[in-house]
Amino acid sequence: MANRQPKIHHRHNTARSPPLNPLSSPPHLTDLRIQSHSFGDSDCGMSSSSKLLIRGGTVVNAHHQEVADVYVEDGIVVSVKPNIQVHDDATVIDATGKYVMPGGIDPHTHLAMEFMGTVTVDDFFSGQAAALAGGTTMHIDFVIPVNGSLTAGFEAYKIKAKDSCMDYGLHMAITKLDESVARDMEVMVEERGINSFKFFLAYKDAFMISDELFLRGLKKCKSLGALAMVHAENGDAVAEGQKRMMELGITGPEGHALSRPPELEGEATGRAIRLASFVNTPLYVVHVMSIDALDEIAKAKRSGQRVIGEPVISGLMLDDSKLWDPDFTTASMYVMSPPIRKSGHNRALQAALTTGVLQLHQAKFLLFTALLDDTQESRLHCALLELVGTDHCTFNSTQKAFGIDDFRKIPNGVNGIEERMHLLWDSMVESGMISVTDYVRITSTECARIFNIYPRKGAILAGSDADIIVLNPNSTFELSATSHHSRSDTNVYEGRKGKGKVEVTIAGGRVVWQHGELNVVPGSGRYIEMPPFGHLFDGIDKADTSYLSSLNAPVKRGKAAT
Ligand SMILES: [Zn+2]
Ligand SMILES: [Zn+2]
Repeated sequence: MANRQPKIHHRHNTARSPPLNPLSSPPHLTDLRIQSHSFGDSDCGMSSSSKLLIRGGTVVNAHHQEVADVYVEDGIVVSVKPNIQVHDDATVIDATGKYVMPGGIDPHTHLAMEFMGTVTVDDFFSGQAAALAGGTTMHIDFVIPVNGSLTAGFEAYKIKAKDSCMDYGLHMAITKLDESVARDMEVMVEERGINSFKFFLAYKDAFMISDELFLRGLKKCKSLGALAMVHAENGDAVAEGQKRMMELGITGPEGHALSRPPELEGEATGRAIRLASFVNTPLYVVHVMSIDALDEIAKAKRSGQRVIGEPVISGLMLDDSKLWDPDFTTASMYVMSPPIRKSGHNRALQAALTTGVLQLHQAKFLLFTALLDDTQESRLHCALLELVGTDHCTFNSTQKAFGIDDFRKIPNGVNGIEERMHLLWDSMVESGMISVTDYVRITSTECARIFNIYPRKGAILAGSDADIIVLNPNSTFELSATSHHSRSDTNVYEGRKGKGKVEVTIAGGRVVWQHGELNVVPGSGRYIEMPPFGHLFDGIDKADTSYLSSLNAPVKRGKAAT
């Protein structure tokens, strides 16, 4: 697949030039408007000093905010307090009047993924560079097994990720499940730093697994202390819906949305939740796109079940109207699964991210009024959804055109890794729906807690990794394919403007984004191992014990007389 050739802007040359270090930078890396430095390249303006002082900003953690300085040495936060004095060898960043926050963590990305006969245009380097320019300093990608083999899939992803310029973790998809896969799951958790497995209830004849295997997977996850994740759509019904659309002659991108309506997402979400409840293990529902799915999550939370709901930025910000655009290139950009829903679902999903007292009958009422009346206040006094991902999975318009005569062949996926932090700030903090501390919680801290890497990640505390952003609330942003850092030739947020700008990104103690320029080093990103038995597993054993004692069985009976 031919990538577009965007404007290159390299500090040392104005013309297209070879990378500084051909060994660490494959030629395609120059496709980015990025200064790709090799290690030891010292004549560049941006400092990579190991000592860094961020002075005078409002330091925000999920639980607290205060005006303070942040001092960083060798990639680690050393102290957070007012008026820190440092020697001349430290780089000082003035953050007066700005917010100093943990870098974003994106729990859901697909970089360098082979899918639907092609491969995403963003690999680990370009996708991460885009992320850093947008204030995200870590992501968790999904390993796709190779012919069902987890080990082979893991090795393939370690190679894909070798040019990483920021820290990353990995989830593992389970696309078939037999004895050898079950053994591999143990190896992944015990030796490879994976603590989450994703199951697909959709993509029939590809990734989809049966309920029988899903149940087996849930049991295995529970025994390993690994979090089960689910793509919840009813794959059989989706296949039927696709057939129906083709029979009706609806072959364009709108057929994608029409073939897999919200009730199919609601059904699968409810089924997955009930099966996880039956096994008594925590469940993480990826890309919650509809009120139907939200309603199932609300019901489960009311009963005390440990279910995490992850909306994605496209589902929060967009509606399905563009799928009806007469221009195929425009309409096909918005094809992803589950589909982007009608206006109203997005508002309800945003409302479900806000916090307060859990009042579910009221929540449910408001969910439906959100659908009926777009202008009505739909703030819920509960947090049904705890964090925001992107499902960043980019294909160029030439790849999307594979489905010009048949929506089933349009590669599924939209951008978002670079836009998530800005869009959430503008739409939710600027509008007053959530506080700045809530923003840190849903963009970073909660993800680190769920995947058991807090407070190394997701916080600015002494001892935390120095993954930090400086956001200027008085500055503005504008999103466009002409200025973004993804390799994609389109952007589903084209032309969108807003308030709040990530002016500085620090990853692993290095300033990688400042003055609108990236300064990234291929290979500098680290693989972050995520240990099992995170906080969602606390007390699961006690619940099992009380379940067993509640059975009043087996009943002891005398031998029946014959
Ligand atoms: Zn999915
Ligand atoms: Zn995904």
